[in-house]
Amino acid sequence: MSVWKRNILVVLAVLVAIGGGAYYWFVVESHMPSDAAFELDINEVRRLADEMPGNKPAKIQVEQIGAFSFPSTAVVAGDGWKQTAMPVFSYQLVFPDGKTGIIDTALSKEQGGENLGGFDADAYARMSKALGAARFVIITHEHMDHMGGISAYPDFAQIAPVVALSQEQIDHPERSGVAALSAENSKLLTPVVYDKYKAIAPGVVLIKSPGHSPGSQMVYVRKADGREVLFLGDVAWHFRNIEVLRERARLVTQFFLYEDRKAVFGQLKALSELDVAEPNIAIVPGHDGMVMASLLSEGVLSKGFE
Ligand SMILES: [Zn+2]
Repeated sequence: MSVWKRNILVVLAVLVAIGGGAYYWFVVESHMPSDAAFELDINEVRRLADEMPGNKPAKIQVEQIGAFSFPSTAVVAGDGWKQTAMPVFSYQLVFPDGKTGIIDTALSKEQGGENLGGFDADAYARMSKALGAARFVIITHEHMDHMGGISAYPDFAQIAPVVALSQEQIDHPERSGVAALSAENSKLLTPVVYDKYKAIAPGVVLIKSPGHSPGSQMVYVRKADGREVLFLGDVAWHFRNIEVLRERARLVTQFFLYEDRKAVFGQLKALSELDVAEPNIAIVPGHDGMVMASLLSEGVLSKGFE
């Protein structure tokens, strides 16, 4: 073999090695860092949920507004390139006195653009109407598929008094993309300020969980019938993230989401431990159609807003 041919082969081998390494690092690698940790004191959360006087929610209702579709490896690193569904949900808590609260508001057809499939205009209209009637509106985090309904609401000043965004959610409009509130509208809000946990209604407790975004929080709900539901927001997109303790591909967390990956890993670990210790708590990832179907069939959640 001539020297130049050998040199070309060496260069090619180096390029393949670099490319393969980069592919592994950005698309496949997802090991739990040994020091990843998140403290989730479920008994303290329960205490706070019980402490607030008043009746707990009688029902939790859900609307699916549409669905994105992502390569599986974007959701669980290493799961390959087959597309997987990312349905977008909004939840309504119905209290025994008929008052309601909303968790997450999905997004409008315009905000979702061509990437949002199966947009259900009727479901969105019910969600938007429910926003206008809610006693409180909370979001798990400041991404457009969770807060879009708030910013697209036709009369923001009307709902502003009940929109309970956390300080971190208000402080990071750059994370909300097309759903970012104008500075003017932001000023109409009273930020929710808290350290670790905060009860905001009977049976309803916020759990500060920065990582997926600075303003991420989980929402614990204990229903009047005793059933416990933990809305994760997008700490996990699918339950499989918790099951196999694998994060989204680094390509996604680093270049699209700007996640604190180690923080999310800690949360996945804490949720996996919680699931073992407290199997009766319904854990609801942000975009898992299978979990949703089983909670609907068990009657933990019910379909369609009031
Ligand atoms: Zn989401």
